[in-house]
Amino acid sequence: MASPAFIDHDYDVVVVGAGGAGLRATFGAVAEGLKTACLTKVFPTRSHTVAAQGGVGAALGNMAEDKWEWHMYDTVKGSDWLGDQDAIEYMCREAIPAVHELEHFGVPFSRTEDGRIYQRPFGGHMRNFGEAPVQRACAAADRTGHAILHTLYQQSLKYKAKFFIEFFALDLIMEDGACRGVVAWNLDDGTLHRFRGHQTILATGGYGRTYFSCTSAHTCTGDGNAMVARAGLPLQDMEFVQFHPTGIYGAGCLITEGARGEGGYLTNAAGERFMERYAPNAKDLASRDVVSRAMTMEIREGRGVGKDSDHIFLHLEHLGGDVLHKRLPGITETARVFSGVDATKDPIPVLPTVHYNMGGIPTNYMGEVINPTRDDPDAIVPGLMAVGECASVSVHGANRLGTNSLLDLVVFGRAAAKRCAQTIQPGTGHAPLPKDAGARGVARLERLRTANGARLTSAIRLDMQKAMQTDAAVFRTAESLSQGVKSVDAIAETVADIKVADRSLVFNTDLVEALELENLLACAKATVYSAEARKESRGAHAREDYPDRDDATWMKHSLAWVDPDTGKTTLDYRPVHTYTLTKDVAYIAPQKRVY
Ligand SMILES: Cc1cc2nc3c(=O)[nH]c(=O)nc-3n(C[C@H](O)[C@H](O)[C@H](O)COP(=O)(O)OP(=O)(O)OC[C@H]3O[C@@H](n4cnc5c(N)ncnc54)[C@H](O)[C@@H]3O)c2cc1C
Repeated sequence: MASPAFIDHDYDVVVVGAGGAGLRATFGAVAEGLKTACLTKVFPTRSHTVAAQGGVGAALGNMAEDKWEWHMYDTVKGSDWLGDQDAIEYMCREAIPAVHELEHFGVPFSRTEDGRIYQRPFGGHMRNFGEAPVQRACAAADRTGHAILHTLYQQSLKYKAKFFIEFFALDLIMEDGACRGVVAWNLDDGTLHRFRGHQTILATGGYGRTYFSCTSAHTCTGDGNAMVARAGLPLQDMEFVQFHPTGIYGAGCLITEGARGEGGYLTNAAGERFMERYAPNAKDLASRDVVSRAMTMEIREGRGVGKDSDHIFLHLEHLGGDVLHKRLPGITETARVFSGVDATKDPIPVLPTVHYNMGGIPTNYMGEVINPTRDDPDAIVPGLMAVGECASVSVHGANRLGTNSLLDLVVFGRAAAKRCAQTIQPGTGHAPLPKDAGARGVARLERLRTANGARLTSAIRLDMQKAMQTDAAVFRTAESLSQGVKSVDAIAETVADIKVADRSLVFNTDLVEALELENLLACAKATVYSAEARKESRGAHAREDYPDRDDATWMKHSLAWVDPDTGKTTLDYRPVHTYTLTKDVAYIAPQKRVY
């Protein structure tokens, strides 16, 4: 293709992604009077947020006494002391107005008898600094994400936000270390576009699809993370990949933790409620890393259920048809369709399944992207922000508590919009773009569009997914991780031999998948390299050869750079924020863990 003809657009703010985080940032910025564009590769209400089930966390205290300080403590502890406490404090305080705001926007929450928002217990959410479970998850039955995403989309329409739907963002436009906007491909008609913005907000979601078995949508391919890596910027804490304890055996679809919140429990082959042994206080509602490891131990030691003793049972049948119908209708249907089980009569076969990426693009609590320098570990990248699952704020640290992601989306989506309002004068003119702006992104598109090798995208992707599933699993060792590093590097090299059959630029899904595969591979590299280097166990990163948490050496965020030209991955670290915003003292990590 000759030098590409771009269609140019100028905005104050350019948002990439229309999940919960992207939509909240988009209409927030519009409401502040900023000219805002939102690009999305899928229709907004098809974003993965729609699949969230269990709830959004906030210490409303509708069911029993609750305090944002307890929520903060649980989140710091759940993060296994890797979360940034200033950001966690901000999120847990803002949770209460944020959920009330959602209610006023029109989210159809389930209700208590006296008409208040219904709240259910969820793993790791406790009263009075770990005393006993508390009901903190604000739920719309078991379709909370669906309710929130549709409401946020309706609000965006109300504010007349400008959407560019089925636009695939290819790369950031960078100039002298600052972000000037993005290059995108319109899947519908094949045209190429440059969007200039004073701020570009990435809200592209997670990269669960690096693994073979995951609960995430097929669109969760880490595009924003890879765009950041290609801009020469680091990704943070990528080794922390959350396995959800209850993915349906075989299919991988999620059964929400809300099921255990409503009274469901797990058993092994002996019919034993084994979580009582692993976490005497929280039991089946211990945090996800703890439950996933306990299930894996039971299976390894020969106490799994089924003919191959390779999974665990989740019991809901004792709750009765009425409760299941009222509180958990979605998962009752999922269990029927994907495992052929009538949850009102029989237990559901489950297995830990990849669910969430704690790591991502490092940001501060206002959503500004960080690129540490020698003098300043919190130096920001002018013009670039990130929110939602693609970001590492870091409120989830080494392990996210359930319900804290939906919360993260709305709190930091709103914070990013507010930061834009503080830093941008609406309608300010743009400097001209550098001559070659966008050329790299288009060159990459062309390389893949004309690729005529021997290997199909799907074959390379499967190799990567299997390598990640085997070598960077719930339990990790030096051996498995060094194998993971070797495998992922070797698999990434086979992209040189990729074959893309469709040469067109109009709705070429073959090409989209090839672009997404490269993005996934960048995320996979950052994950295995960071995991191999971290010689301790913390949160979701469980090393059999280093079973203890080592705060003296490892209470620090990993940073990984994946070189866009050579593919080489390098690592460094930055300090955890162990200070808070308004409270005098931060929570200090205890020597011994108690669950
Ligand atoms: C099955 C499931 C259940 C969950 N349940 C809960 C729960 O109960 N509570 C909770 O707190 N969390 C839950 N989570 C986690 C939470 O839902 C997600 O972390 C969150 O929804 C991610 O939102 P997001 O806005 O960051 O990204 P997403 O919702 O994934 O949206 C990403 C957006 O980016 C766009 N995009 C991506 N790449 C490009 C590109 N190259 N160009 C243009 N656009 C692009 C997509 O089109 C999409 O609009 C659940 C997750 C799953 C998978």
